Amino acid sequence: MEQSTTKSRVVGVDISNERTTFAIVDVRGNIIVKDSFPTNDYPNINDYVSELSNRIVEMTEANGGYECIRSIGISSPSANYLTGCIENAANLIWKGVIPLAAMLRDRIGMAVALANDAHVTALGEHAFGTAHGMQNFLVVSLGYGIGSCIFSRGEAHLGHDGFAGEIGHTCVVPNGRPCGCGNHGCMETYCGSKGIITTAREMMAASDAPSLMRQLEKLTPRTIADCCEQGDQMAQEVFRRTGHILGFSVANYANIIDPEAIIFTGGIAKAGKWLFDPAYESFSKHSFHNTRGIIKFLPSTIDDRERDVLGASALAWGIKEYSLFK
Ligand SMILES: [Zn+2]
Repeated sequence: MEQSTTKSRVVGVDISNERTTFAIVDVRGNIIVKDSFPTNDYPNINDYVSELSNRIVEMTEANGGYECIRSIGISSPSANYLTGCIENAANLIWKGVIPLAAMLRDRIGMAVALANDAHVTALGEHAFGTAHGMQNFLVVSLGYGIGSCIFSRGEAHLGHDGFAGEIGHTCVVPNGRPCGCGNHGCMETYCGSKGIITTAREMMAASDAPSLMRQLEKLTPRTIADCCEQGDQMAQEVFRRTGHILGFSVANYANIIDPEAIIFTGGIAKAGKWLFDPAYESFSKHSFHNTRGIIKFLPSTIDDRERDVLGASALAWGIKEYSLFK
């Protein structure tokens, strides 16, 4: 009897500066098995591709075999879906343009798709999360950097060069704070984690008012939010100012795109009401009157620990299977 060769699984890979996580995921988004290794142990990209490929092969052989894996999806900072390359990543050890999708495909003999983290997050939300069933939505990821993805008519809108959705680098304060991208006043320099910390430091320097933030060993969006919970007024004001900028910034975005919802993910989204109450107020105030009160602000419902590999698995299902005869 012929053995069944239905390819009912994919591999999802998430690359961050610290760790590379990879998992076998089925069509319903169940993670069959997951593992990880430190990305920074492989400063040479060829060594990295060998390690990743060996680890994926080992994992698949121990879990149902190579035959049931259809394709591989990879989430990485600064990845361009249209070229399959990681392009000049500021936050990874490999510099320049890395054709990672082609390198892994040639090594492992499976179709490989590569996309940036915001794009992959949006695919995951669409397949398995808050955006399930939505055709038009925005995902805004709030972390060290601020990424976003526009979903239009059920598909990610990538733009001409693959760089659509860089809301973090839209200008919110002309001639404002310097940004890592070389520009000034980018939204990320106010609403990203470094921006929130800068706002807190500026406020503490500008007054002698007491604040729990002054005693913090480490100032982070999370510890500032903890101070908010304890009733600290200055900490609450930090998030009010951040929320104000975030709100009008996404209102400008929504006024152009007209999404059904804006879905927020990332570590800073954990600040909850301290950030989103002022953000929604500012958003409503700056929204076009016909959409005011209609566009929803929603949190991601996918577990943080699973979001990236699940999104990467959704990316993998979207590509054609590999064939030597194409
Ligand atoms: Zn910038």
